[in-house]
Amino acid sequence: MNLNRKVTLLFVALAASILIALVIISLYAFRSFALNSSTAHVKTAAEIVRVHLTEAMINGTINKREQFLERLMEVQGLSMARVIRSPLVSQQFGEGLQREMVADRIETQVLQDGQPRFSIIDEIGEPVFRGTIPYIASSRGTPNCLQCHRVQEGDVLGAVTIELLLSGLRKHAMTSVIGIMITVAVFSLLAITLARRLVLPVGDTATEIGEVVQRALKGQFKARVTQRTTDDVGMIAAHVNRLLEYLDHGLSSIVERVAQLTGRMPSGIDNQLETTIDMVNSLADAATFKITIEEDETKAEIYERFGQLLTKRFGICEYSLYETRDTGHLQVIKINGDENQNCLWCNPQILIRSEHCRARRAGHVVDGLTQEHICAAFVADAQGGEVRQHYCVPIIQSGVVGAVVQLVTTQTIAPCLALQVPYILMFIREMAPVLEAKRLTETLRESSLQDVMTGLHNRRFLEEYVETLVATAKRRHTVLAILLLDLDYFKMVNDTHGHDAGDAVLKGVAELLKQNVRSSDLVIRFGGEEFLILLPDTNGEMAVKVAEKIRLAVEQYKFRIAGGELKKTISVGVALFPEDSETFWQTLKYADVALYRAKETGRNRVLRFAPEMWHDENDGY
Ligand code: GH3
Ligand code: MG
Ligand code: MG
Repeated sequence: MNLNRKVTLLFVALAASILIALVIISLYAFRSFALNSSTAHVKTAAEIVRVHLTEAMINGTINKREQFLERLMEVQGLSMARVIRSPLVSQQFGEGLQREMVADRIETQVLQDGQPRFSIIDEIGEPVFRGTIPYIASSRGTPNCLQCHRVQEGDVLGAVTIELLLSGLRKHAMTSVIGIMITVAVFSLLAITLARRLVLPVGDTATEIGEVVQRALKGQFKARVTQRTTDDVGMIAAHVNRLLEYLDHGLSSIVERVAQLTGRMPSGIDNQLETTIDMVNSLADAATFKITIEEDETKAEIYERFGQLLTKRFGICEYSLYETRDTGHLQVIKINGDENQNCLWCNPQILIRSEHCRARRAGHVVDGLTQEHICAAFVADAQGGEVRQHYCVPIIQSGVVGAVVQLVTTQTIAPCLALQVPYILMFIREMAPVLEAKRLTETLRESSLQDVMTGLHNRRFLEEYVETLVATAKRRHTVLAILLLDLDYFKMVNDTHGHDAGDAVLKGVAELLKQNVRSSDLVIRFGGEEFLILLPDTNGEMAVKVAEKIRLAVEQYKFRIAGGELKKTISVGVALFPEDSETFWQTLKYADVALYRAKETGRNRVLRFAPEMWHDENDGY
């Protein structure tokens, strides 16, 4: 029940109570007024009758008393007047007239106890006030009753019964009560109307405030409350409007700023407040994510963390992460959280020709959620079952696409992914510069571990990598072969053909070495024209075979130098870790010993280290 109805009901109840109370009070007042006034009238009439009868007795006209009483009846409002003799008077003067006999019980009682009696008799709508008043003998008045009557002081001489008609009085009372009722009703009606007019704006304003608060809870602050009056209620409406305006303005600018940061404006159907809170929370989380990945050591850790984020926070288990290589190829980083997976959701062609990847080629988002079949390279049914959709985001690093994130979803939950995309983009935006920085650091680091002229790893790389290498060999109980290679009479090349020719030969040898080993083997430029090849997971026989293959390849190769071609040979020393020594550096030393021996024994040959070489060597010193 609203305020307006409550107030109306209150006033109606109040008016009805007042009306009933007034009617009761008025009726009671009229009744007691009628009784008092009728009693007084009856007493007066009784006194007149007494005086007249006394006078008639003195003047000797008592016999004519009947005419007097009949005349008395003609007085308006008087319906009956009768005089009764007491037994004492009857004894002295006889029974008197027939009508002077005691008529009823009340008169008998009055004659007995000398007390007047009054009553109202209501006979079918004709109300009558009846009073029976005794005449008491007294010697004090004039004339002295005891002079004529043989009675004692205080004895009852007789009584008079008088009846007055009350119908006129009652009619008058009813008219007055009805008048009062009408007046009260009219005033009550006026009061209710006035109260409603006063309360109506309060109720309506309260209802409207309720409505705008409901809308505000849904993030809409545009609604306003109508200011109906200039009083306190009007002020409340004005204050609420000011607050709404303030919130609307504040929220609009927050939404705008957040939209600038997230690149997404909440739609009209969104709860702007909740969406903005979500976005601010995600921005904060994305900032925290950035701080965390900044402290990660490698890109691999960052990709791992991002994969976890997709799975744990966004519930996305199907996705691909690709990285662009310097060669322009794409490389798989992760597929559905697995590092060793091959291209699953895309045609593997994209790995060789990265332009086939639309996101890589276009450099902007490829939205397969709204545009199915937008990318020809996407494989929608790679895992069978329900057909998938994709959303690919290129990660721009140094102005080019450095990586591509591909989110994959079934058509059923594609709308959910569409809702999550803006939030995921926040994290990708934060991740991009960190990845770029890590990539730069890694490139820098790699360059410091690389020999500039040949592109091979350098000695520093060996120093950094040796621990991992040794640990792996020990863990897997495999043999790591060390091949130390030195060009024969290389100094002569420089001396005869110049330094540039020497460089060309070194580059050529580097290429030959790379071509003749597995991709898992490591080729290192160890010194000027000295090379080191590490062959993990091998044995002595295999290592010597590889060394021999290399020796032969160098021997047969014609190095192109300015002004012609050149042939060179190479000597190789082979030692095995941990077969020859338990420490890597000692094994390397043994390879050097073998190389030395190869040089000593004619060059252009491969020699496997044997313990006696070490003894001979030391014996020599
Ligand atoms: P040996 O058969 O005993 O090895 O004879 P060698 O002439 O090769 O002797 P040595 O190994 O002592 O000579 C190394 C030469 O390699 C000396 C240096 O001039 C040359 N050298 C080292 N680094 C470079 C380089 O980067 N470019 C060129 N052109 N020459 C280099
Ligand atoms: Mg040398
Ligand atoms: Mg040499």
